[in-house]
Amino acid sequence: MDSTTFLRTEDIAHLAARLGLPALFEALVGQMEGDFRRWPEFDKSARSAAHSSGGVIELMPIADATLYSFKYVNGHPLNHLRQLPTVMAFGVLAEVATGMPLLLSEMTLATALRTAAVSVMAARRLARPGSRSMALIGNGAQAEFQALAFHHLLGIEELRLFDTDPAATAKLIRNLGGRSGLRLRSFASTAEAVHGADIVTTATADKALATIITPDMLAPGMHLNAVGGDCPGKTELHRDVLEAASVFVEYEPQSRIEGDIQQMPADFAVTELWRVLRAEAPGRKAADEITVFDSVGFALEDFSTLRLLRELAAEHGLGTPLALIPDLRDPKNLFSALRTPQPVAA
Ligand code: NAD
Repeated sequence: MDSTTFLRTEDIAHLAARLGLPALFEALVGQMEGDFRRWPEFDKSARSAAHSSGGVIELMPIADATLYSFKYVNGHPLNHLRQLPTVMAFGVLAEVATGMPLLLSEMTLATALRTAAVSVMAARRLARPGSRSMALIGNGAQAEFQALAFHHLLGIEELRLFDTDPAATAKLIRNLGGRSGLRLRSFASTAEAVHGADIVTTATADKALATIITPDMLAPGMHLNAVGGDCPGKTELHRDVLEAASVFVEYEPQSRIEGDIQQMPADFAVTELWRVLRAEAPGRKAADEITVFDSVGFALEDFSTLRLLRELAAEHGLGTPLALIPDLRDPKNLFSALRTPQPVAA
């Protein structure tokens, strides 16, 4: 019987080192674009969420005719006080024909990579061509990935940084400082960081109806990549920002519950991104239009990521065989799995 392949964080890091981050981001965008164009082929649902006072734990399933995947992911903004990341995740890719789990992968690192790739996939259709500066509000775990994906794939040359925790910004500058072609500037407030930026990425974590971006901060032609408002009661944009913009989402039934658009009436107009990718709906229509990608993270992005990771791991000889399912000579004789190995004679 085939075994399940297990990918650790180190395996993903090896892949990133062998391919280089720009190529890995580009491969993720390519895989996701291909899958988003096949949108009607997928069995989709809004993720199931278990809320508690400190955070949320979510399961994100999706399938096409041949493959099924799910991701387990949490969001606990105060986890850093316990030396744990805000977001932790793992995912499974399985064969629909048999239900056999093919891959079990870490997805804490993979989620940061895929979220940045989705942000770029959206920004390629929604940001003003020639955008060179990006404000990055929230400089935690996701931030470097967003920064580098936008730098390498979209040509962002200036990052304008703000975080309520100066240590987070200092960490980002330590990680990314000294790269040629990327200027890092830190600011004392969101308003100052956003002023003059072509693109604004918000990746803050707070279980609150926050208004990180207010209408007075908007400039004509700005693109907002709102990553952190991804849960009921957890937003980043003032509702008048949404009123002023053309708003794009991943999967509308989920985004109505979790996205910044949770603040808006049920008939507030939004466009699902797959329709733009299939050229069934326009992306940006005018140079002075304000666009918002109200990102929450959708299961299809993880499906694409797991599929790509499986292919790349096989190609590069990475991953460990995992005996997740009992190996039975007679599949009806599960009872035989209880037989413990005989002790070895001394
Ligand atoms: P993190 O906790 O590592 O970093 C968040 C940062 O935001 C912290 O440094 C914090 O100090 C800062 N912050 C909080 N409130 C702020 C404010 N008002 N102004 C400026 N900075 C503020 O979390 P992370 O892993 O980087 O995730 C960031 C957010 O993105 C989380 O809300 C997470 O749930 C979300 N997320 C979304 C997706 C998606 O697909 N849309 C994927 C991953 C994570």
